[in-house]
Amino acid sequence: MTAKHTDTAEMPATAAEATRRIVLGTVGYRRLPALLALAYALVGALWIAGSDHLVNSLPMSAQQVAILQTYKGWFYVGLTAILLYSVLCVTGRRICVHQAQLRHYGERLELALSATSSGVWEWHLDSRTLVLSPQLKTLLGLPNDATLPTDILRQRMHPDDRERATATMRRMLHRPFKEQADQYRLRHSDGHYCWVGMRGRVICDANDVPTCLVGVATDITHSKEADVRIQQLIHFDALTGLPNRVMFIEKLREMSTGPLLKDEQVLVARFNIERFREINNELGMRAGDLLLRKMARRLERGTGALGVVARVGPDDFGVVVRGLIGNATTQQLAERLSLAVNKPYRLNGETVHLRVTMGVTVFPADAAAPETLLSDAELALGRAREQGHHPVEFYAAGMNESYRLRSMLTRDLRQACERGELLLHYQPIFSARDQTLQGFEALMRWRHRQLGMVPPSTFIPLAEDIGMIGALGNWALHEASRQVSQWNRMAGTTLMVAVNVSPLQTQTNNFIDQVAAVLAHTGLPPQCLELEVTESALMADPVAAADRLRQLRALGVHVAIDDFGTGYSSLAVLKQLPVSKLKIDRAFVNDLDGNGEGVPIVTTIIDLARSLQLTVTAEGVETTTQLDFLRDHGCDTVQGFLLGKPLPADQAEHLLPRPGAPRTAIGAKSC
Ligand code: C2E
Ligand code: MG
Ligand code: MG
Repeated sequence: MTAKHTDTAEMPATAAEATRRIVLGTVGYRRLPALLALAYALVGALWIAGSDHLVNSLPMSAQQVAILQTYKGWFYVGLTAILLYSVLCVTGRRICVHQAQLRHYGERLELALSATSSGVWEWHLDSRTLVLSPQLKTLLGLPNDATLPTDILRQRMHPDDRERATATMRRMLHRPFKEQADQYRLRHSDGHYCWVGMRGRVICDANDVPTCLVGVATDITHSKEADVRIQQLIHFDALTGLPNRVMFIEKLREMSTGPLLKDEQVLVARFNIERFREINNELGMRAGDLLLRKMARRLERGTGALGVVARVGPDDFGVVVRGLIGNATTQQLAERLSLAVNKPYRLNGETVHLRVTMGVTVFPADAAAPETLLSDAELALGRAREQGHHPVEFYAAGMNESYRLRSMLTRDLRQACERGELLLHYQPIFSARDQTLQGFEALMRWRHRQLGMVPPSTFIPLAEDIGMIGALGNWALHEASRQVSQWNRMAGTTLMVAVNVSPLQTQTNNFIDQVAAVLAHTGLPPQCLELEVTESALMADPVAAADRLRQLRALGVHVAIDDFGTGYSSLAVLKQLPVSKLKIDRAFVNDLDGNGEGVPIVTTIIDLARSLQLTVTAEGVETTTQLDFLRDHGCDTVQGFLLGKPLPADQAEHLLPRPGAPRTAIGAKSC
């Protein structure tokens, strides 16, 4: 226990302390010969001078003095031999202790190094040789017995690190007492590079002249590889191998800074795969992953060496391309990329058709900051997704404002129904011949709390986009039927009501049932209800449309084609559709005035309706010239500002004939 304690007490606390003790010990041994010689000379001189003086002062004969001198000499030899012996014994013991300590420190160092995959190196400046510990030789694949020239380090160092290593070495020599550390790539004999963390300092001689550099080198390849992997995870998408959003913004910043050539542009695009979740659900996650990888490769091929492709969201990609000269090149590239990603994909043996929308912004034309570029491209992407007809949309100034407004309207429209902000206006429809009231067209209005009256041209397409048109349309159908049914009961009339229906509304499975339910609930006779559908809705899928119309007609409901003449209806298709009325678009009616450009179109539509045994309504009648023309050419009914604007229900009610009174003609003047 005591011995152990002593051991620990003797043990140096730090490597620096150990070095200090060894150095002090070494210094002691260096001075020892001089000390010994000096002591010997001093003792000898004192002995000779002192003993001779003593002997000469003794009252003795010459013979006795000679004998005494001999004994004195032997005594001196014996004494100095004993002294020398004692000094050498002490010194030898101390040397043994120091050797044992050195061996001990050496073993501990070995142990520590073997546990840390580190090795020791010594660079001898005078002999220009390098001494590496076995660990370092193994690390570099060098034979264990090799004596190495210092050049070997330079030869084995990665070219990119050499300059840094030279600078560190210079710093070391310049400031010998300061430890230096850095990391370098060193080549193994088999050719691969390993990362080595080196730390070292200069050793100087007694005159402070550097003689040697010593240090420790540690293999840090694994931690470096882990660093690279972490960086990879931070900056790259594992699935596609593409840069992620963080990296994309960095690249965007890099590519949009620095001077541009004349007319040079940077294209920034965002791509989104529509219905990606459905693909994942229907074909499985692996097919979804495959799709993303395929799309990534197509984009990479499309952008080439000038661009960077990144995965910026689960089903979103970003592209930035620099070096495009002129608008035309930028536009062409955008179209080319869109075409490439919109081609069918082969997934799980199936051919999958997708819609990939793309929002594009161009630097420096559209924005100055990279963050704005990305959000501008996102805005344009949002627009492309909303529009639906063309998959590519370029950013335009003002999109921000319209996007903000749209977001607000989207939020508010969802609550408009509950808040009672929706209402119907009724525009009277008259007989062209005698101008008697035939019925009304119900037109939806939205009284917004801040914006006032929002026109249907704004909120109907929005409702279609956000999937609310079904609810809104059904409400309009119910409210209009209820109102006109009530008026008919009040006035004892059989006025009809025309209700506009959106194509999306008619395509829902239960639309026919909804119409039947409304009729049953409101008591409106089916022949008093006219549903207005647009030409384009019918022509998109005439077979399905014809089927639906037949079911509506079976209920007894009338169907009119609204805005007729604007949708390129084919006569052959028109003949197949069980519609009951054509409504001439107001643009043609408007053209009846002036040089009468609308005349041939309007007369053709009326003739066509006649031949198909359909009735005709002209909308947007604003002048008596138009009214006269339409009446004279056999148009059945008319509506327009000349005869009556769309009115709120309480005002439209005044147009109803009084109960029992014959339906009177209501001319322009009465409106
Ligand atoms: P539309 O069905 O063609 O309705 C006729 C539009 O022309 C109405 O515009 C009406 O106010 C306007 N108008 C009528 N006479 C004249 C005239 O003499 N001169 C001029 N300049 N305009 C006239 P409004 O109310 O703004 O409606 C626009 C469109 O919104 C409608 O066109 C219809 O397509 C749609 N819409 C209105 N209400 C509904 C609805 O309840 N459901 C659906 N799906 N669409 C609706
Ligand atoms: Mg209409
Ligand atoms: Mg119309």
